[in-house]
Amino acid sequence: MATPSTVSLITPTGLSYQQPTGLFINNQFVGGLNGRTIDVINPATEEKICSVSEARENDVDRAVAAARKALNGPWKLATPTERSQYLYKLVTLMEESLEKLAAVESMDNGKPINSARGDIGEAIGCLRYYAGWADKIEGRVIDTSPQHFNYTRREPIGVCGQIIPWNFPLMMWAWKIGPAIACGNTVVIKTAEMTPLSALVAAELIMQAGFPPGVINIITGYGDIAGSALSRHMDVDKVAFTGSTAVGRKILKDAANSNLKKVTLELGGKSPNIVFNDANLDQAVRWIHNGVFSNMGQNCCAGSRIYVQSGIYDVFVQKLKEHVQQLVIGPPEDEKTTHGAQVSKTQLERILGYVESGKKAGARVETGGKRVDRPGCFMEPTIFSGVSSDMEIVREEIFGPVGVIAKFETVDEIVEASNDTTYGLASGIHTENLKTAIEMANKIKAGTVWVNQYNGVHWQLPFGGFKQSGIGRELGEEALFNYTQTKTVSVNLGIPVV
Ligand code: NAP
Ligand code: MG
Repeated sequence: MATPSTVSLITPTGLSYQQPTGLFINNQFVGGLNGRTIDVINPATEEKICSVSEARENDVDRAVAAARKALNGPWKLATPTERSQYLYKLVTLMEESLEKLAAVESMDNGKPINSARGDIGEAIGCLRYYAGWADKIEGRVIDTSPQHFNYTRREPIGVCGQIIPWNFPLMMWAWKIGPAIACGNTVVIKTAEMTPLSALVAAELIMQAGFPPGVINIITGYGDIAGSALSRHMDVDKVAFTGSTAVGRKILKDAANSNLKKVTLELGGKSPNIVFNDANLDQAVRWIHNGVFSNMGQNCCAGSRIYVQSGIYDVFVQKLKEHVQQLVIGPPEDEKTTHGAQVSKTQLERILGYVESGKKAGARVETGGKRVDRPGCFMEPTIFSGVSSDMEIVREEIFGPVGVIAKFETVDEIVEASNDTTYGLASGIHTENLKTAIEMANKIKAGTVWVNQYNGVHWQLPFGGFKQSGIGRELGEEALFNYTQTKTVSVNLGIPVV
């Protein structure tokens, strides 16, 4: 039966369901204490879908208190095997709800339904991976002398505040809660104001999976209010953030000015994607295309700085343009659509602003460059050539379907150009020459180097940024080190004090 904090909706794919709209605290959906709400918009139609509760500081306090109580109560008593079982149960329930979660994600974010299905699959894969880790988090025995017994314990950090963006809403949610829960922490996670719906649907599954109340709390709210309250909170032990570098900087300051909570940051990028003369041309064109246009370019690791070696430059540009024409721009619910809406009008306008800036600076539009002539926030896939390294469109993260393409001659030149950025999240190299690939991989300053592929993010592989693209790593075993703290225990077996 519908509760007061639930609305009946029909997704554009034709699925009827009950959408929770409250804050998820202590396994209950509750309204915000101040009674305010946030309108949720479908960017493909620019129509309102529903409203969700807006968490203010006092709601953040409630959620943190719930997480603290769970941490000191039932969650402390849960065995690693039990933590694993809760996560596996959640995985099963998410698999059963995959179509619903994908339909909601596509409606809320504007991404094609097929991409949304892929994202939910990724979220499930990530949670399954961390379910497997929960009972394999171990300390060590370290021998210093026959008179001592030393060992380390990997203890949870405590209450984790987690703040996520709108580009992969449920996937980012899974990246955050998976390792945190596997390690025995409790969480308060804030969704992006533009895409709160899928996490609230998943909240119902958390309840069904039997997690004790307060272990996972989900709040919807604005970044500068609820997000900032989390990062300033004196009873939050760690904050994990994914989003822009500008906000990451604020979070680090908030942590420093409050209780020096641990901080991990996954931030922006302006990643180079490099094609050598000897690359498999057809494959390289496809990977470059995928690198810059996947998820309508709203991808932190987007390979948006494309560099092509001079011997194949002209033919490459031509082939890339032909490939771009094959993108099917259309309603996200249409199975054939491969290029959906940008997340919001604000983002669309921001992207168009960059396109103007590129034109003004003298760059040439090879393809695209305009808003698509149809209702909704649709942007043409766009490629600029004739760019120079000082242009805004080459230096700044556009977070839309806009790539810049430039020519290069030598390895030394391309290493320098690739690293001429404050970012260092990802990179791509396309060559059939193993020596070139390895040399480039060693010299590029980025957290991920993809060779003859792009966007190959996998839950088993650590992901994160060099330079101003972040602090710490998510995914893989490495994420577990960011959600545990090592305690060293040293036992004296009989040496008297001198
Ligand atoms: P954003 O403005 O940085 O927002 C990210 C999250 O932070 C949202 O939940 C936002 O809330 C919240 N926030 C905003 N101001 C805050 C504050 N003062 N204190 C605490 N939280 C605050 O980024 P976005 O526009 O959503 O996403 C795009 C950016 O994220 C891009 O720069 C992209 O590169 C980056 N990104 C990075 C990765 C990665 O893994 N490295 C992944 C995805 C995206 P609101 O929703 O209310 O604004
Ligand atoms: Mg939306």
